[in-house]
Amino acid sequence: MEQSHVKRVICCHCPMACGLLAHIENEKVVKLTGDPDHAISRGFICVKGERAAEYHDHPDRLDYPLKRVGRRGEGKWERIGWDQAMDEIAEKLRVLRDRYGPESVALLHGTFHGPECGIGIRFLNLFGSPNSSGMGIPCAGPAMEAEALTYGFGPTYISPPVPGVTQCVVIWGSRPSASQPPVWLAIQACKEAGAKVIVIDPMKTEEAEAADLWLQLRPGTDGALALGWLHVIVEEELYDRDFVKQWTHGFEALRERVRDYPPEKVEAITWVPRAQIAEAARVFARHQPAILNWGVANAQLGRNAIQTERAKAILRAITGKLDQMGGTLLLGPPSRARIMPDMELYDHLSEAQRKKKIGVDRFRLHGEGYERLSRAMRRVWGKERLLSQLWAADVPAPLMWRAILNEDPYPIKAVLIQYHNPLGASANGGIVYEALKSENLELSVVHELFMTPTAELADYVLPACHWLEKSAFSSFFGWANMALVGDRAVPPRHERHNDYELWRDLGRRLGQEAYWPETLEAFWDEMLRPAGISFHQLVNSEQPWILEPPAFQKYAEPDPQTGRPRGFGTPTGKVEIASTILEELGYDPLPNYEEPPESPVGDPELARQYPLILITGGTVIECHHQGMRQVRFFREKYPHPEVRIHPETAARLNIADGDWVYIETRRGRIRQRARLTDRIHPRVVQADRWWYPEEPGPEPHLHGFWKSNVNVITADDPEACDPMYGTWFNRGNLCRVYKAGE
Ligand code: SF4
Repeated sequence: MEQSHVKRVICCHCPMACGLLAHIENEKVVKLTGDPDHAISRGFICVKGERAAEYHDHPDRLDYPLKRVGRRGEGKWERIGWDQAMDEIAEKLRVLRDRYGPESVALLHGTFHGPECGIGIRFLNLFGSPNSSGMGIPCAGPAMEAEALTYGFGPTYISPPVPGVTQCVVIWGSRPSASQPPVWLAIQACKEAGAKVIVIDPMKTEEAEAADLWLQLRPGTDGALALGWLHVIVEEELYDRDFVKQWTHGFEALRERVRDYPPEKVEAITWVPRAQIAEAARVFARHQPAILNWGVANAQLGRNAIQTERAKAILRAITGKLDQMGGTLLLGPPSRARIMPDMELYDHLSEAQRKKKIGVDRFRLHGEGYERLSRAMRRVWGKERLLSQLWAADVPAPLMWRAILNEDPYPIKAVLIQYHNPLGASANGGIVYEALKSENLELSVVHELFMTPTAELADYVLPACHWLEKSAFSSFFGWANMALVGDRAVPPRHERHNDYELWRDLGRRLGQEAYWPETLEAFWDEMLRPAGISFHQLVNSEQPWILEPPAFQKYAEPDPQTGRPRGFGTPTGKVEIASTILEELGYDPLPNYEEPPESPVGDPELARQYPLILITGGTVIECHHQGMRQVRFFREKYPHPEVRIHPETAARLNIADGDWVYIETRRGRIRQRARLTDRIHPRVVQADRWWYPEEPGPEPHLHGFWKSNVNVITADDPEACDPMYGTWFNRGNLCRVYKAGE
């Protein structure tokens, strides 16, 4: 007899964590719809959520563990059982730990794939290795670091615009219509209610089209633009005097610094007309409350990444936009649940091992900076650790590849790669390839949904659960005072295992038995202990969430112990315009700007050879990062990767719409289809990422990795990375484009 029912789940295809209804027949998800009763998403579902079952049911999903039997990349595999895989991998890890030390084992982590994506860090800390490395650094990491340094909390990611209340929204370096669709709906509703919308983007996006003001800046110059806004706001005294006087540290130093960035100078740097710079700054400053978002594009600005987000953080603060309804919220972590940074068990990693983290003396926010930030934030928020190591104590990928290849500062012998295709996602794909093929690596394990270019080079490939196959607990990484839970829709098929089970099974074989309860749900129970409720009880309740009523301007509330205002979670207790932590670490305490490493201004000779500016990373609503490439509906709409070129530029280069073209940088060339559009500046092109999972896996193909993946030609020079944090420059390398023929 057919069994059909509906389950309430949390969509984990992206971090928005929408509540969905999974319609299930005979243990198969036949439809996904928005949950109209969900407290946060209120019935919203985007196309990714609607089509998630197609991704889950795809015939190319990995079902069983595979062990390499040929050479790396040869495509010869033997199917083995999960327990055999765990036994063999654990034994190899034990041998490597004894021979080279625990630091010789690294965890490489990828994009968001469910709220448990930090659990591997727990395994690593208990194992004794400080070396995790992944995609937090070029993603939310810089905003989180910059805001934590400035406000003692961050990122202020969960600050939804409120229609009728929010008076201005600045969308800077992001496309919420694709990457945060519920937020984009709220922004549109704000606009209808009369709010001003300002968009800063090199491309005329859907957001730019709808905006009151669109600033089409030269890629990579966001930091200069932010300093230009600060100049206007300070010179014209548009800041909130009372707030600045009472709650900030370092304003006079900022006044001096931004004198150097008058609009005419900023126009020359950014290509944005000076009148527009001044007008946008005035509109933002004069509208209360207002939101200025963080953007992944700003996270990928290399040497300017942290300082650009710092300048944006200061813009919000000095114009009085912090922690008020409809403005930028400092929500704080859940008061009745533990957060993943607590569960990572950083304090189990010895002092001596922490000091061995690769790059910790160079990119010091990942070492001493992490300790100082944690101490300052603890005073206000009460959590031992508020920032996940995934973002705040990681190894920048460019250093990881070089450490593997050069065995410097010591050998890296094993990589455990989870839900991550660094061959597609990391810059300078050639060096990633060399590292993953290196004889120096004695063990390479990939835990994934599908075979990927990276998985093709592994020694073991393990089948992972899709989010429909696992339960979820979200507090938006601990960035919001709430906890949402959702059941798994269906049990995992075949020998697929979730993240938790992988680390549990390895951990229990390596002496960590006391730290790994039997199930993922028992782990969630631990996180819910402060609320006095189990995961099972909460997920089966009418309202499977814990929400706290929002509180505003909490910094002004009296501290129960001292009676004085509790202030901000920074060393001075104030908004640190001049960061005392950066100063103590030997960095510039104020925001600054440097010309991008490859630019027509900084390197005119190179620009003569490569006259176009290449941007990457733009997305569409149908996918999240490299996901969905396998699914038919996506590929029918987007069969090939595309490079967007202005028609005038294309005409000069004799390129027609739909032509195959080469995009070439100093690092090599790839092929994509030309898409002509006047939405892009004539001196800029924008290219897609890795595309062809259906192409053969064994070398030389690697699922089309070399052919069209823009990250084969992007740069990862450590010298051009952010000097304190290590994020690489991915938004504005120089290139040339020419016709490729069929
Ligand atoms: S993919 Fe869509 S439905 Fe799923 S959480 Fe993100 S925005 Fe919500």
